[in-house]
Amino acid sequence: MTVLTDIIARQIERMGPITIADYMTQCLYHPDHGYYTSTHPLGASGDFITAPEISQMFGEMIGLCLAQTWIDQGAPNPFCLAELGPGKGTLMADILRATQRIEGFHEAMQLHLVETSPTLRETQRAILNGYTVTWTTAIDTLPALPLFLIANEFFDCLPIRQFKRTEAGWQEQMVAQTDGNLAFLLGQLAPPELYADADIPVGGTLELCTASNAIIADISASIANQGGAALIVDYGDWGSGADTLQALQNHTKIDPLTQCGAADITAHVDFEALTKSAATAQVSALTPQGVLLERLGITQRAQSLASRLTGTALDTHIAAHRRLTHPDEMGQLFKSIAIVPKGAALPPGYDHA
Ligand code: SAH
Repeated sequence: MTVLTDIIARQIERMGPITIADYMTQCLYHPDHGYYTSTHPLGASGDFITAPEISQMFGEMIGLCLAQTWIDQGAPNPFCLAELGPGKGTLMADILRATQRIEGFHEAMQLHLVETSPTLRETQRAILNGYTVTWTTAIDTLPALPLFLIANEFFDCLPIRQFKRTEAGWQEQMVAQTDGNLAFLLGQLAPPELYADADIPVGGTLELCTASNAIIADISASIANQGGAALIVDYGDWGSGADTLQALQNHTKIDPLTQCGAADITAHVDFEALTKSAATAQVSALTPQGVLLERLGITQRAQSLASRLTGTALDTHIAAHRRLTHPDEMGQLFKSIAIVPKGAALPPGYDHA
């Protein structure tokens, strides 16, 4: 049991059961023992690996997609290039390298990173050496400029609440403790009007991520007012209905109630809820990551890079291309939406909803 598991168990003993959102918040952001405050979670040696860490091609495709959208909107100068949860900074470094030769893009951009983790900020500072970067912890402090934004595997780590539909009605799933061990417990009947329109049968689970919905509403309002585009990539699906809470340690799924602060704890992103929250702007259809990357030209790029590689480097490169795009790997589980002003052209690779 981790120190944080013990802290949370004692807190529940004194104050009673807590919501899953409160539990996730402590696991991820506890000032001393939180996952993103105290560890180096990402990469092959961490607990999980993300698309930009698999291959530079991911960031290159995303960067060119954003740059084309910037051109389509008349190349506004200045504009804000922002990333939510940049991790090790690899994605932004690849975006910047891929867009270096886009005329006027770097000169017009103001680079902003939204990041809570002090350790990861230092990693980002090192990899983005040479660029002027402004860090912030909240999107409402971004400058009032056309906003070109990317968020990859950001929304999955924001805290969710879970509501189970039982014969009796809706009950919130809580985290309780017995004899010092954490355990799930169904709470009181929850006020049904909150979930009245959720089309979920008895036995199903509604997951609600109010933090994600609020952030998307802010981004969309900014894009509707000032122009720009947001590309959201994450694992998840359209709608909610199942329990998707999961914890990953060392690339392996573990019980989400045991390794508090030492495992990555996430839930699938509900793209329907995000789309509804972006009503002030225009949202594309939900697009699988594999389809998006193919449309953006990843295969041509992969072939061009492959021509310079041999041996294990070539094998790794081919495996990375497959991992990012194949439906049995990340190609189908990961999905994307784009948000642009109403009436504006969608970014390349995306269809109208
Ligand atoms: N986008 C990166 C990393 C994803 S991991 C990649 O694709 O590799 C999630 C990132 O979001 C980490 O950088 C984490 O520190 C950051 N993060 C998590 N919760 C956050 C929050 N509430 N506000 C800002 N950043 C957050």
